[in-house]
Amino acid sequence: MFQRRVPLVRLLGFEIRFDLTWLIVVALIVWTLSAGYFPAAYADLPASTYFWMGIVGAAGLFTSIVLHELAHSVVGRRLGMDIHGITLFAFGGAAELSEEPATPRVEFLMAIAGPLMSIALAALFYLLGLALAAAEVAEPMVTVLGYLSAINVLLVVFNLLPAFPLDGGRVLRAALWAWRGDVDWATRIASMVGGAFGLGLMLLGVLAALRGNLLGGVWWLLIGLFIRATAAASYQRLRMHHMLAGISIRRLMRDQPIVIAPAASAAELVEDYLLGRSLKRVPVVEDGRYLGHVGVEEVKALTPQERSQRLVRDIMVPAEPDNIIALEAAAADALAQMQRTGHGRLYVVDGTRLAGVLTLGDLLKYLSVAAELQGNARGPGGMRGHAGSGAG
Ligand SMILES: [Zn+2]
Repeated sequence: MFQRRVPLVRLLGFEIRFDLTWLIVVALIVWTLSAGYFPAAYADLPASTYFWMGIVGAAGLFTSIVLHELAHSVVGRRLGMDIHGITLFAFGGAAELSEEPATPRVEFLMAIAGPLMSIALAALFYLLGLALAAAEVAEPMVTVLGYLSAINVLLVVFNLLPAFPLDGGRVLRAALWAWRGDVDWATRIASMVGGAFGLGLMLLGVLAALRGNLLGGVWWLLIGLFIRATAAASYQRLRMHHMLAGISIRRLMRDQPIVIAPAASAAELVEDYLLGRSLKRVPVVEDGRYLGHVGVEEVKALTPQERSQRLVRDIMVPAEPDNIIALEAAAADALAQMQRTGHGRLYVVDGTRLAGVLTLGDLLKYLSVAAELQGNARGPGGMRGHAGSGAG
């Protein structure tokens, strides 16, 4: 889902990064606060003061969201979950999991940690505001703190709506899961509620836009769309992992792939491999050992003269943990790795020896056949079209 993530800072061992969509939203929030919200809440201040209030307000909101996600992440890590980091994007933040929680208890504790943190922050900002007001200092800051307290309450209310994948939806799923012991069923119900809720938000957005609140309306419409897509993708992802359970990579990979030697020239690569066999990427192998891969992307950066002079060794992308997977790994792990790294093609290694290549396409082909054999009886209608949406 997140393609252009920029690392920002490391906190408590978690990498905090942001998606470029977040920057647009930060600018929008500063503008809305300094041009609309704060002048309405506290009149007759100079424009520069409103601007600074907007900056401080946006920074406080940003910090609140990071702390909310950190609470999820710290509790998750303590309970043994593997968390890759926190991404901030247009509609808030997300702690990234590479696996589903193992038990309803883990799911519940992890889900509730974020809203509890936001409640604590709301109280903290409220008390700070009271203290500043009593001391009669920095009065514009009292307004900013009031805003931050209110926005944290709003975050709690919104996130606790029982709509998966929001925190409240995760609590709902944990409860259903604990009740019947069937995570598949619990996810399906929670996702359906999430989808319905997303649709409701979209309708509210359209109504608001028709009544003249265009910006707010479009915003709710987008959030509704986002929740619907995420609810469908979360359910689909779970279903995919279940269908891949117990399937080994060995069964789905292509063995004996066409390989190129590191001493080959870039010109040979183009003529004999890329054009000659219609390949986009070729693994680089020497004495059976996997060294890296090379393809259209690397060649495109070269001038015609460089193509005749450079060797594959010089231009290849060297092997790195994100690109390779062990032959003994499970297919579900391969899918999780593709989802996490955005690499749709993994080189399967047996020690250092290249054993084969596994692509997202190979996994999806298997999944579509398996889903067809299962019939659609167990899944809600219309979700099959989203099979790839969890892979971005
Ligand atoms: Zn949360």
